[in-house]
Amino acid sequence: MTFLVTILGSNSAIPAYGRHHTAQYVQVKNQKYLVDCGEAAQNQLMRYKLSSLKLNAIFISHLHGDHYLGLVGLLSSMHLQGRTKPLYLYGPRGLKEIIITHFKSSDTVLKYKLIFTPTNAQEPTLIFEDKHIKVTTIPLDHRIDCTGFLFREKPHPIRFNKTKLPPNLSLANIASLKKGEDILDDNGKLLYKNKALTLPPWPQRSYAYCSDTRYMASLKNQLKKVDLLYHEATFLNENELRASNTYHSTAGQAAQLAKEAKAKKLLLGHFSARYKDLKPFEDEARKVFKESYLALEGTTFEVG
Ligand SMILES: [Zn+2]
Ligand SMILES: [Zn+2]
Repeated sequence: MTFLVTILGSNSAIPAYGRHHTAQYVQVKNQKYLVDCGEAAQNQLMRYKLSSLKLNAIFISHLHGDHYLGLVGLLSSMHLQGRTKPLYLYGPRGLKEIIITHFKSSDTVLKYKLIFTPTNAQEPTLIFEDKHIKVTTIPLDHRIDCTGFLFREKPHPIRFNKTKLPPNLSLANIASLKKGEDILDDNGKLLYKNKALTLPPWPQRSYAYCSDTRYMASLKNQLKKVDLLYHEATFLNENELRASNTYHSTAGQAAQLAKEAKAKKLLLGHFSARYKDLKPFEDEARKVFKESYLALEGTTFEVG
């Protein structure tokens, strides 16, 4: 099943060196989600040929401009393009007021239903669920309320081992196999063991998006064994004090969390405009956690 993360923006505060504000496009099977929506998100979606009209939900981590300044523009475009499909939006409470003020001032009534749910930055909360995934907030340590988002697949069904399946199975037999049951004859005698005809379900994959935050050792519990971890790395270790004072993290700290959480892979992003060359971020992180990569714009990462 498709589970992809495309980086649309990876810079913090000020766009620099061709890098844009934070935004990511997450695809799970045929469902599409946007995580944060920095200033250029709409243009970046077009550049990488990703449809905004297909978006099911948008998740905004916090109300610093580099994470949401592209949102009103994107919502407006979907309105102008005739979107009618409802759109789910999750973010801090104040986001609703910002959107209402804008559309009230421009005398715009959106052609589609925008369903807003405020996030809670105090404790992990299940905020979204569909056929394939659940999304839970990750409370972070930032100057204002800020949450990350943990996308986790729902359990997959048992898989049939097609090379082993006998041709004469009834629909009732197949239903039993799906439930993990053995197949019995009319007298209750065992015909086939479930395990002889099936394979274990695919593992439940997960993606954690950790937006702006200080290093939080405690996150290792919620993020335990996550397949793909995106964690902000605004600075390098040489600026650790500055990172802490501004409620941000270093590449080394992001790697430390990935290591302690036993993540499979780490993506570093939210780079400060003070750095032109990003290679030192990867180098610093890899000294602690080998599977560290830069969240470069236009790159798509597969989860799991
Ligand atoms: Zn930021
Ligand atoms: Zn911020």
